[in-house]
Amino acid sequence: MTGSTGRGRPAERRRPLPAGPSFDVVVVGLGALGSAAAWALARAGARVLGLEQFELGHRRGASHDHARIIRRSYHTPGYVRLAGLAYAAWAELEREAEERLVVTTGGLDLFPAGSAIPPGPYRASLEAAGVPYQWLDAAEVMRRWPAFHLDADVAGLWQADSGIVPAARGTELMQRLARNDGATLLDRTPVTAVRDLGGSVEVVTPGASFRAARLVVCADAWTGDLLAQLGAELPLVVTQEQFSYFRPADPAAFATGRFPVWIWMDDPSFYGFPVWPGAALKAAQDVGGHRVTATSRGFDPDPVAADRLAGFLRARLPAAVGAHDHSATCLYTLTPDRDFAIGPLGGHDRVLVGLGAAHGFKFAPLIGRVLADLALHDGTEVDISPFALDRPALTAPDPEVSYLV
Ligand SMILES: Cc1cc2nc3c(=O)[nH]c(=O)nc-3n(C[C@H](O)[C@H](O)[C@H](O)COP(=O)(O)OP(=O)(O)OC[C@H]3O[C@@H](n4cnc5c(N)ncnc54)[C@H](O)[C@@H]3O)c2cc1C
Repeated sequence: MTGSTGRGRPAERRRPLPAGPSFDVVVVGLGALGSAAAWALARAGARVLGLEQFELGHRRGASHDHARIIRRSYHTPGYVRLAGLAYAAWAELEREAEERLVVTTGGLDLFPAGSAIPPGPYRASLEAAGVPYQWLDAAEVMRRWPAFHLDADVAGLWQADSGIVPAARGTELMQRLARNDGATLLDRTPVTAVRDLGGSVEVVTPGASFRAARLVVCADAWTGDLLAQLGAELPLVVTQEQFSYFRPADPAAFATGRFPVWIWMDDPSFYGFPVWPGAALKAAQDVGGHRVTATSRGFDPDPVAADRLAGFLRARLPAAVGAHDHSATCLYTLTPDRDFAIGPLGGHDRVLVGLGAAHGFKFAPLIGRVLADLALHDGTEVDISPFALDRPALTAPDPEVSYLV
């Protein structure tokens, strides 16, 4: 209800906002990472408030749509070990949700000779972490998966545990479990101001302000706006990316039991999935989009980028490019080194940031647990040292930029 001051301004705006209840932790942003954090916090017994500016499950961020790749193959032993913990965290989510979520398909990382993403660190990291893999020449890849048309100089790294995790569904389940464990999750509730009061944190929304001992920022493409409230900044770049679904003429050839998830490890880098969950398969370019902000971005797919993807598929995976089903957009929020940003914000010990650098979905349940550990115990057993917010890549004036990993 709004009254009038007689000068054309709603009287309500002049009154102080009602103070909402206090919480142990407020989580801002309920995409995959914030939902995971809210769940982990509530599960640990904390009084948690999760705030999401749009409706839960919206398509303006990074956690919508069906499929995300989960894989152990990574370019450092640390990520490979972290992926092992992520698989365990997904298994825990599956148990709690009583639902199968991880679809194991096996994964192929395809390296043309001289690829922009070199295979050496991947192989060495898997070996260092004791994860088995197979190194296949092009002929063997095409013998096993005849849909690929590869030049002789392409080699494939096959890792049997790779697969699919469900983006929107996984996020929704973590929200449900968070609520079951007592978290208060409010959608359509934008955080308009954040204040570090020293002994606590104040979070302002249009209807109420809330206090908490800790604040967890999982705002991805909007992270910069929130950190600016605290006088802080991270060198994040947001790009508008897109993915396309195609209906292959022979969907059975691309079924999850027969066809793997795959990544083309060159520049441009492409990736794709089996047919899942319907009759179409998804493919996309990794980091091919224009720089945008969360507010300046559009929602129409870029036809030039769509052609680039279709051209690649016609050359390397022609049977996959059946009728175009649809394309859609999403946002990547990139750090200069493409490593995550996880940990306390410099100068604001009560504020924690969790940012997945556009490859974080597979780690979401694990990152949520890490953020809960940090918020409740000031530490975690998981080695997150490469993701510290005070690392040179996030603090140096002119950091080296490398998005392809
Ligand atoms: C097309 C695409 C493909 C990808 N593929 C993979 C993949 O195969 N494997 C993989 O592991 N990862 C992948 N990723 C990356 C992964 O999906 C993201 O890292 C992850 O989903 C990010 O989750 P998030 O919760 O941090 O961000 P988001 O889902 O964007 O959530 C952030 C939320 O914060 C909310 N918010 C922001 N500011 C405020 C505010 N002031 N008040 C209230 N709410 C606020 C936003 O509305 C939003 O809902 C992909 C990403 C994209 C876009």
